[in-house]
Amino acid sequence: MDNKELAERLREIAGKDYVLTSDMDRMLYSYDASLEKAIPDVVVLPNSTEEVSKIMSLAYREKIPILGRGSGTNLTGGSIPVKGGIVVHFSRMNRILEIDIPNRTATVEPGVITLDLQTEVLKKGFIYQPDPASQKVSTIGGNIAENSGGPHCLKYGVTSNHILGLEVVLNDGTVIWTGGKSRDNPGYDLAGLFVGSEGTLGLVTKAILKLERAPETIKTMLAIYETIEDGANTVSAIIAEGIVPATLEMMDNPVMRAVEETIKVGYPLDAAAVLIIELDGMPEGMDEKAQKIMEICKQNNVREVKLAKDDAERDLLWAGRKGAFGAVGQVRPSYLCCDGTVPRTKLPEVLNKVMDISKKYDVPIGNVFHAGDGNLHPLIMFDERNKDELKRVLKASTDILKACVDVGGTISGEHGVGLEKLKETSFIFCENDIEFERHIKKAFDPDDFINPGKMIPEPVCEQ
Ligand SMILES: Cc1cc2nc3c(=O)[nH]c(=O)nc-3n(C[C@H](O)[C@H](O)[C@H](O)COP(=O)(O)OP(=O)(O)OC[C@H]3O[C@@H](n4cnc5c(N)ncnc54)[C@H](O)[C@@H]3O)c2cc1C
Repeated sequence: MDNKELAERLREIAGKDYVLTSDMDRMLYSYDASLEKAIPDVVVLPNSTEEVSKIMSLAYREKIPILGRGSGTNLTGGSIPVKGGIVVHFSRMNRILEIDIPNRTATVEPGVITLDLQTEVLKKGFIYQPDPASQKVSTIGGNIAENSGGPHCLKYGVTSNHILGLEVVLNDGTVIWTGGKSRDNPGYDLAGLFVGSEGTLGLVTKAILKLERAPETIKTMLAIYETIEDGANTVSAIIAEGIVPATLEMMDNPVMRAVEETIKVGYPLDAAAVLIIELDGMPEGMDEKAQKIMEICKQNNVREVKLAKDDAERDLLWAGRKGAFGAVGQVRPSYLCCDGTVPRTKLPEVLNKVMDISKKYDVPIGNVFHAGDGNLHPLIMFDERNKDELKRVLKASTDILKACVDVGGTISGEHGVGLEKLKETSFIFCENDIEFERHIKKAFDPDDFINPGKMIPEPVCEQ
């Protein structure tokens, strides 16, 4: 089937206004927040599960590559159509179908923007916890595919801990439900398998999410350090004390500088690092916990701990943290965000290695990260048009991930493997591990047309 006929068949399914074929439109779907690029043959914007099912069975019969797309904010090339074909953009399937307070669930379509859902449920006194810093833009479908984390996932767990059930369109267009409103379901935990599968096993068309009561009290502190090691040591010391704050987020000096050039938060530009510490929960005992944390900060040479006086001050601290990736665009036009995780106690050692790598490849690196989870996000800043610099950046990124793995960590905390880290899977998986993943992919998609080329490296052919 040629592209013209394909577009015609898709128009019959989704309607003539919801199939995009112009060069300009297709170009707009050729990139995400990674450095990868590839142009799809056609983009379709379905409005229902039934339409998605018909689109999938068309792709299945014709063996056309197909992939889902939320807002294209993923950082590893997950939504890049490397083999062309159909991009299914879920922006019209953005309805919150039900907020069921007695059962503490929300049922949503995949194109719902994460923050829109959080805003709606908060009006009823509830929270949907996973809060990627991209929550103003990212979708629930994308969060599920990437098993996204966020600042509050230290205490509450990542997306997989908050998914109760999924409706999924399988390779031949069959629609299945896995899981549901009850907390324990018999059979294989298929919802668990789909979460984090980077859109390679099927297209999610509905999700039942877990809601929790909003905390009665929140205390947000900014701890200021002369050295990044002191900040990182504070993180391990707080957890070792048996306190699990809602968040422990760290930012180093280069990132604070970039933030202050865009959003005036009042970060101390003469300090090496800051730690945003947030406690939430019942008011009882909260002051004592805050006091204990301040003592731990002092034992780790903190210069000062500031307590946000009101919601406005708290919001400002978070605006700086959540706007940090965008802010580094002030320093250089492009950035590559590495996403390695290490055991918390190894943070100081690995942060020092990151600085060595920055010097070795002569590329500036800033750090803003989920310190409590040991989840580093070194942001390598550069100019994508400078091919020599790009080569050095890619080598630096590989070295950083290797440094994480060498201390017992791994190559992704939350951004997935996508296209960008296929090579680095060899740092953590042996060939048997990878072959088993290929078996799972084959069981769902024997023809390898659902988001092909992602997450699992191709077998190396013997010559
Ligand atoms: C500034 C910035 C900050 C970020 N902060 C965080 C953070 O704190 N934590 C974090 O975890 N990530 C973060 N990210 C990464 C990114 O936002 C997340 O990976 C997010 O979940 C992607 O959502 P999306 O809607 O943009 O999905 P997309 O990028 O469009 O897609 C991501 C993957 O999901 C698949 N997909 C999308 N919808 C479906 C569906 N319905 N069914 C099946 N597969 C589907 C796609 O094929 C692709 O593989 C950040 C990114 C940026 C740019």
